[in-house]
Amino acid sequence: MRSIVLEKYYINAPLRVALLTLATIGSLILLNVLLANGSNVAEAYVLKGCHEADHDANYVDVHFAWGTNLQTPGSAWRTAWSTGMQDWEDANTDHVILFWPDSTSAHKINSIWDQYNPSPGTFSHNYFCQPHYSSWSLKNNTWATTGWSANERRSTAGHEIGHLLGLLHTTNNSLMDVDRDRSVVYVPKTDDINGVNASFDD
Ligand SMILES: [Zn+2]
Ligand SMILES: [Zn+2]
Repeated sequence: MRSIVLEKYYINAPLRVALLTLATIGSLILLNVLLANGSNVAEAYVLKGCHEADHDANYVDVHFAWGTNLQTPGSAWRTAWSTGMQDWEDANTDHVILFWPDSTSAHKINSIWDQYNPSPGTFSHNYFCQPHYSSWSLKNNTWATTGWSANERRSTAGHEIGHLLGLLHTTNNSLMDVDRDRSVVYVPKTDDINGVNASFDD
């Protein structure tokens, strides 16, 4: 009798695992169907709760100065930032977003070499920010992005600008997804645009 019990146990353990797995997959599929078809569709964007200060009901005006390492028009990273800004200007956001180069601005976009921080780009801002950033800077890290393509740089610039516009990270292959393929995802996607619309709804 004991051996049968043991044998029965050994046969059924994988079966139980298989049934549990099937049940879990089934639940996830059902959940996805409910999320996709339900009236309350879950939003994937995540808001920072802070955004660029200079805006009204219709326009977001971003004034900035090029940093010391981005003084040369046409250089690889300056082009990436310029294209990233253009991508947001062209995005179909509720607010018209405009970027204004202004050498007297305290807000800087710069290029750095930082072998101690693996991030390809960073967005820094004042600690107490809600609802508006009073100071900020955007930087790309050439150490972390050696050999990257134009679109990979562009994707990085657009992502960091997304933080300036009030977005946090997602996991849905949008511009704000840190695991996106930067050579493929380099302009704001619907979720990014929805997020910015919600961000400036104040
Ligand atoms: Zn980020
Ligand atoms: Zn605001």
